[in-house]
Amino acid sequence: MSASISLEAQYCAHNYNPLPVVLTRGKGVFVWDENGKKYLDMMSAYSAVSHGHAHPRLVKLVKQQVENLTIVSRAFHTDRLGPFLERACQLTGQDMALPMNTGAEAVETAIKAARKWAYKIKGVADDKAEIIACSGNFHGRTLAAISMSDEPQYRDGFGPFPAGFNIVEYGSIASLKAAINDNTAAFIVEPIQGEAGIVIPPDGYLEAVASLCRENNVLLICDEIQTGLGRTGKLLACEHEHVKPDGLILGKALGGGILPVSMFLARRDVMSVFTPGDHGSTFGGNPLAAAIGLEALNILVEDKLAERSAESGEYLLRKLRAIRNPLIREIRGRGLFIGMEVDPALASARAICEALMVRGLLSKETHGTVVRLAPPLIISKAEIDWAVLQIIEVLAEMEDVQLAS
Ligand SMILES: *Cc1c(COP(=O)(O)O)cnc(C)c1O
Repeated sequence: MSASISLEAQYCAHNYNPLPVVLTRGKGVFVWDENGKKYLDMMSAYSAVSHGHAHPRLVKLVKQQVENLTIVSRAFHTDRLGPFLERACQLTGQDMALPMNTGAEAVETAIKAARKWAYKIKGVADDKAEIIACSGNFHGRTLAAISMSDEPQYRDGFGPFPAGFNIVEYGSIASLKAAINDNTAAFIVEPIQGEAGIVIPPDGYLEAVASLCRENNVLLICDEIQTGLGRTGKLLACEHEHVKPDGLILGKALGGGILPVSMFLARRDVMSVFTPGDHGSTFGGNPLAAAIGLEALNILVEDKLAERSAESGEYLLRKLRAIRNPLIREIRGRGLFIGMEVDPALASARAICEALMVRGLLSKETHGTVVRLAPPLIISKAEIDWAVLQIIEVLAEMEDVQLAS
């Protein structure tokens, strides 16, 4: 076993089960391991590396900004924060933003905003505000986020949980309607569920959700940490149904594959519930993160990464759907956000990922049965062709093993 893997096994908490590969370098859609072997990255760090590894514009800017100013905390203003948040608001149609670092922190921020809005503006009685979330959701690993989860493994051993969360069936308007009451502050939803295995709700769901929330004075908060910023073929996945949520959560790709950068964006009347001292983060909105976030947004727009995702995603989906192999149960996706569900009786998604790794293609299974295919948005058609060939061959080998046994 590699010395790096043994060291991690000894000193790093075993809260992940990584593929046995030790990466040392990345450039564009490729990463290299400690032996110099090259891999196509079809995982892009759960969409945090949508721009590709070491994007030249971002690397250049980081060098400049590191020499200039990096961390000062929000005790002071900087010349970097305003332009970043202005651009983020312009692009998403939101009025104001609150910068944080990781996705989970931005989710916490959204929950705090929604609750405070319920008490100060909607008129819900103290400590009665409810937040509705969906079955199968993933909103991060903090206590509030796992309190909204119905995934037993995310919760096991971590109780007691904060109260005030309800779960409704993802994709069902009737289920949401039945759960809304006078104390409902917000409905938080992923336009496509990533960690659940790239689960796409029925057409028209988000649009119907938006009108139901509007009729009931309930905030619609979209968690686009993973689906946002071009991943599904639009800047925001909400745009597929022309929905503008009352609150929006961004993260992952917002950091350009370089730093954790996240934010909660909202209408002015929602964000205005925060007053100095209510909420904060030492690192949130620091000038290095803000400079990177602004450049990451500019690159997305100027290099048309959302359009590329739509085009390449359609191409990849078409090629995957043309594969005839009994191991495949379903191929689903939008843009370069694709899941290949395998028949658990015939193969494990983990075994497929390990076989793909040997061939120089990196991906990761989710929920044991889905292979996630979400490369950097800059992937070329030739690279997609190569990836599909590896998938075809791995599936064929595994089918042969099945037939032989
Ligand atoms: C990744 C993710 C989060 C959590 O983000 P972290 O940066 O890991 O805290 C929350 N919501 C969604 C939809 C995600 O995909």
